[in-house]
Amino acid sequence: MAAFGTKFTGKMILGTYQDGHWSDLELVPVAPFSLHPATHVLHYASECFEGLKAYRTDSGEVHLFRPDRHVARMLNSAAQLLLPIPDGDTLTRALHMAVAAVKDEIPAYPGALYLRPTLFGTEEDIGAAARPTQKAIFYVLTSPVGDYFAGGLKPLRVKVDDQAQRSTPNFGEVKTGGNYAAAMRQVVRAREELGADQVLFAPGGIVQETGAANFVLIEGDELLTKPLDGSILPGVTRDSILTLAADAGLKVTERDFTVEELLRRAPNGEAALTGTAAVLTPVGELLYNGDTIQVGDGQMGPWSSRLREQLCAIQSGEADDPHGWRVALAE
Ligand SMILES: *Cc1c(COP(=O)(O)O)cnc(C)c1O
Repeated sequence: MAAFGTKFTGKMILGTYQDGHWSDLELVPVAPFSLHPATHVLHYASECFEGLKAYRTDSGEVHLFRPDRHVARMLNSAAQLLLPIPDGDTLTRALHMAVAAVKDEIPAYPGALYLRPTLFGTEEDIGAAARPTQKAIFYVLTSPVGDYFAGGLKPLRVKVDDQAQRSTPNFGEVKTGGNYAAAMRQVVRAREELGADQVLFAPGGIVQETGAANFVLIEGDELLTKPLDGSILPGVTRDSILTLAADAGLKVTERDFTVEELLRRAPNGEAALTGTAAVLTPVGELLYNGDTIQVGDGQMGPWSSRLREQLCAIQSGEADDPHGWRVALAE
């Protein structure tokens, strides 16, 4: 299987917005867009996206994982960027249409079909720097993905950065390319200088998240993570892991916590990143101001394994789905 992100199905869902309304959604072949050099997104980053998965269970049934959450988040992203967007029911239908069109190409679990709904501004006007685009394109691209951890689940080395900002205090909850652009230089530098896999952003000493995943600390009988205050992405995986942790009897605490608290508790605990692509990835080492702090014994801890396995079993269809997270494909 090709590396994540490089292989696509041949069909996508496409809609366009102009003169105040959306076209009907169409199933079309995946093909390049032709864009005028003055196109809004190219200058003013009027863009947001989502990432979610559809799974094929052992019995052959296809479901989407918590599509309602992804639709709600995309509506919020678009609202904050003043981008026109189809209504929630239409977005939901677009997701189902995109999956149904390539149903036979969904790899068996632990493979999946990754969906990338994307929205961007297409008005041709470089004068529109301070007003919303009057034209837009929405599409749903799909990509068959293999087991993200075919090479094994290796704990990550994570640089803790208490200076750099990943995003801004309000814009952190928007899933937009601009936030990735803002974080990229820090991540590349940490990789080059420290051999770090990721950067945990903690501006002002308050632990937030990494460039593309939420962060949780587990120590004693508590799972600790930053609350959703606008500065971090409201991860669907984060929410799922918090729910399963509470079900399993962990005390789930959403509050601000400092780098100092993190570094004090991590040696006796566990730490992990959560996100759709990798589900839950253990953090083995934290790199801070020239020190290396080992998290627990440096390997994936028991809570991380248990929560990861539980969520994977729900996604694969192996376990019951008490919270109604699997949504059967509507055709
Ligand atoms: C997409 C994303 C996440 C993870 O969200 P999921 O819904 O769990 O996939 C976390 N942080 C950032 C910055 C993201 O862009």
